Amino acid sequence: MSTALEDFHRRFLPETIREAAQIPFYRKRWAHVDLATATSEEGLQELPVITRAEVADAQDLFLDRGRPSLLIHTSGTDARPLVRFRSVSELEAMRALSDRLEATNDRAAFSRERVVFTTQNLSKHASAVPIVSDIAPVINISTDNNWQLEVAVNLLDQFRMPGAEGLDFELHGRPKHLALLAHALLEKGASEGRGRVGLLTFVGGRVSTNLTNFLQYAFPHARFVQTYSLAEVVSGGYLCHLCHLYHLDAPVIGEVVGLGNARRLSSGAGRLVLTELHPFSQLQPLIRYDTGDLAVVGEGVCGRFSFQLIGRASQVPIGDLGEGRQVLMSLHALWDVLDTLPSVERGRTDNASAGSGVGWQLGSPCAEVRVVETQRGPSLRLNVGILHSPHLFPTQAEATRRSILDGLAQTDRFFTAATRAGLKTQVKLCRPGELESLSRGK
Ligand SMILES: [Zn+2]
Repeated sequence: MSTALEDFHRRFLPETIREAAQIPFYRKRWAHVDLATATSEEGLQELPVITRAEVADAQDLFLDRGRPSLLIHTSGTDARPLVRFRSVSELEAMRALSDRLEATNDRAAFSRERVVFTTQNLSKHASAVPIVSDIAPVINISTDNNWQLEVAVNLLDQFRMPGAEGLDFELHGRPKHLALLAHALLEKGASEGRGRVGLLTFVGGRVSTNLTNFLQYAFPHARFVQTYSLAEVVSGGYLCHLCHLYHLDAPVIGEVVGLGNARRLSSGAGRLVLTELHPFSQLQPLIRYDTGDLAVVGEGVCGRFSFQLIGRASQVPIGDLGEGRQVLMSLHALWDVLDTLPSVERGRTDNASAGSGVGWQLGSPCAEVRVVETQRGPSLRLNVGILHSPHLFPTQAEATRRSILDGLAQTDRFFTAATRAGLKTQVKLCRPGELESLSRGK
């Protein structure tokens, strides 16, 4: 028996392939593929995986009909800017689908009838921004400087709007911005505002376990929705409350493929690859697009494609310990461990270009992992930003090193397996400002 989602994909995939086959970019790459078989979800595997670099360089990835009405620019993690165009009919198709899903979608079930406060510019990560038509007011707030933060706190704590008296609040935005807002609300003692928050939707970044616990304390009545989105992809996904894995929204088909090949995996770690369906993406459809994220195939209870994120492919350490290339450490596991350690440096929470130094630094931990190839195989060099001098506080520094390695050994199966296979890891504590914060890049 097939699910509604499978039926949905079966209905839209053949048209997607037919449309894309008219675009020179795909015509070239698909010259040797029998497109008749590629129109099924199983047959999709016959098509090559395309990378961000290929898409960025392409002059011929454009369906020559319809006019673009929206331009999306993404700077990306890999310093590779990408520009995407969307047409009116694509946006209309997405809107119509969202309206239809309102009644059944589990995300929509708790996004209705709330006042939404968002720190996101509505043009960014469009797929993750609430559909404005069917929900209560959307109010733009900012945490970029102290004045705007104070405005946001006062708005939330003294919110009066005709017709919205009994409504709950939804806070929507990047985790670090919502963390900053939570701190400011707590410091003001704004219990009325905090109590009305029924939902937190995180976009464009990950929420560590430690931050989740803090936000649950700050907003005791709130449920959390962690979204997955890429600016260049028409639609994203969300972290499921049932299986604690990510699922994708209906307009995209997901696969995890091998680290070094385009073969679809049924288990284990690989590259997360997405296919946008027609008519939700028309002008520049991405077919088997390598997201640049590494993921583990989920074995969830939900009976649909699911995955767990490991980190950006450009940052995740990979090495060969004798049995082929493997992931040596999950960056998300590292993130969770580092975020429990107070001495670890965090990324900026404010708009870096504004340089206003607002509030506490609540961004993700500053760290990087490097694979060092030695004659005895790869070893790991883990650099972590730290707020105090390790020479002035040697005991604390040693405790921090120990906590990091023990924490990883307890929580990260990649690190544990690699260590068992002989991997050696060295932790270096670095000065503030020396390292970038761990993130999905944004
Ligand atoms: Zn699930």
